[in-house]
Amino acid sequence: MSAVGILLCAGASHRMGFDKLNTPLCGRTAIERSMDALIAGGCDSLVFAVNGESAKTVAALCVPVPHTVVQGGEQRTDSVRNALAAANGDVAVIHDAARCFVSPEIVRACIEAATETGSGVAAMPVTDTVMRKENGAVETLDRNTLFRMQTPQAFRLDRIRAAYEQGAYATDDATLYAKRFGAPTLVPGSEENRKLTTEADWAWAKNRLEPPAYGIGFDTHRLVEGRKLFLGGVEIPFEKGLLGHSDADVLLHAIMDAILGALKLGDIGKLFPDTDAQYAGISSRVLLRKVNELVQKRDMVVAHVDATVICQRPKLAPHRETIERTIAADLGISPDAVSVKATTTEGMNDEGRGLCISAQAIASVRHR
Ligand code: MG
Repeated sequence: MSAVGILLCAGASHRMGFDKLNTPLCGRTAIERSMDALIAGGCDSLVFAVNGESAKTVAALCVPVPHTVVQGGEQRTDSVRNALAAANGDVAVIHDAARCFVSPEIVRACIEAATETGSGVAAMPVTDTVMRKENGAVETLDRNTLFRMQTPQAFRLDRIRAAYEQGAYATDDATLYAKRFGAPTLVPGSEENRKLTTEADWAWAKNRLEPPAYGIGFDTHRLVEGRKLFLGGVEIPFEKGLLGHSDADVLLHAIMDAILGALKLGDIGKLFPDTDAQYAGISSRVLLRKVNELVQKRDMVVAHVDATVICQRPKLAPHRETIERTIAADLGISPDAVSVKATTTEGMNDEGRGLCISAQAIASVRHR
């Protein structure tokens, strides 16, 4: 049994403001990722259906199996028909290049089902309630009878050719196959096997592939009498407090600098200058929430924060959990993603002599 992969790379849409098939995702295009999955899943040859831009991408690929390139059509059906005419093998595995996270296991399962039964089509159950609304009347459909069709859709090549010969149009191959040969065999797809269609899909894909970005922060403030002590947004009972333009919360300042560093947005001195009266005496929690808004504006989220407070006195252990919970709340993340530690310097250095408190932090941000 031989399986030919038909990779549909035409019809690249610019709905997202860029070309989802030809724009590299962490160094490799969707076309290249889909190609690798088809080959790893058992396709021993390939037919690419391309248009202008994807023709260039495919021409630049190093394809490790015999392959043909055909012109894509106006519609998906036209592209498949052109590719089927150029295909050779027992089973055709038709796949939308925009589903570039398909696993080789799904490809293999589709080929095996097609070999045994004539068809093997990736599909997912519907878990939401589905309602049909038409002319003001509504009907709730039985979701146990509904499926979300994915690709790959594998068929015996002679059968799918025959199904396409009827000349009808459809949004997938299983629809045309079913008209001629009855219900196709369904193979479990996966949520990962998602079609990159919207900007949200693209953000999801980047998040899946891109490592988080990291930033570090460091800050020191002088300990003086007559000031309240704030650390990590929590007021700590102590005979002294930290001197500064804001509440001088050295821990939150280090954390904010770490987050801003991960975003390459400079530091808090640049964002909230101490020459600006609106920040006089301001709670650093307010500033932390402003920094978090910048994270969210980029459709990102703080993934993790780890910080060390360097201070001889007071003891921070009793306040640690409250501090972690407070920071997590301001960042809108789980307290499990915030770690605050403390160390003394054994009486050495300015921290050890009680002249100041310092803090170090590292933060990572990732796409939502
Ligand atoms: Mg500071």
